[in-house]
Amino acid sequence: MFNFERYSRQIEIFGLKGQEKLLNSSALVIGAGGLGSAAIQFLAAAGIGRMGIVDGDIVDESNLQRQTIHAGNIGINKAESACIFVEKLNPEVVVDVYPYHLNPRNSEKIIKNYDVILGCPDNFATRFLINDTCSLLSKPFVHSAVYALEGEIATFLGKPCYRCYIPKAPSLQARAIVGAVAGLFGCFQALEAIKIITGYGKLLTGRVIRLDLGSMDFFEIPISERNSCPVCSGKLRGIFEENYEGDCEIVRYS
Ligand SMILES: [Zn+2]
Repeated sequence: MFNFERYSRQIEIFGLKGQEKLLNSSALVIGAGGLGSAAIQFLAAAGIGRMGIVDGDIVDESNLQRQTIHAGNIGINKAESACIFVEKLNPEVVVDVYPYHLNPRNSEKIIKNYDVILGCPDNFATRFLINDTCSLLSKPFVHSAVYALEGEIATFLGKPCYRCYIPKAPSLQARAIVGAVAGLFGCFQALEAIKIITGYGKLLTGRVIRLDLGSMDFFEIPISERNSCPVCSGKLRGIFEENYEGDCEIVRYS
């Protein structure tokens, strides 16, 4: 029997069965930065059974404006630092630490071990890599990206995929971000993952939600399978490094 007291407030919503599903499930958080820090915190608090954390970066002072789980850990690898946080918050969670970046050589080996994948990177190449690997392995992919006071969130369960929405990377490299914005979207991702696992509620599929938190405007962008999508058409047969360079357009299929 699990620690009923710890989860009692959410058992009122998800039920004992939902809580058991959480405790018996696994999630992979790719990137322990602004989005990942919030997602890791609330997945651990909710009682996910096992969590993988992938990040090759080291905590530095400029991270703490938004990556609050790394407090006190400047100089430590972010996946290791996140693991220290989770062990303090909820020792029942088993943590797998991957203290390096996701890349085309390791993505299938890592992603295949988890029920739900949360994409929390800060670059397009990794987003495409997560999308393509999740599609090939039929894994649910919860996506978010943030910039300044804006962010977007979507869940991809097979078709349509992230490449149906954005076929190739734009050239901009945006780094400005307000900490609370990253935290908010990371929380959205944790919640989508919890809904996927428990079966509770309605998932954010077939559309992307964008929020401009400066103006408090809300946009819903419907997305559908793109005929020319190399992933959804089944033409892409594996993960190849060439597809994650430059604008990340797919140039090699098999
Ligand atoms: Zn697609």
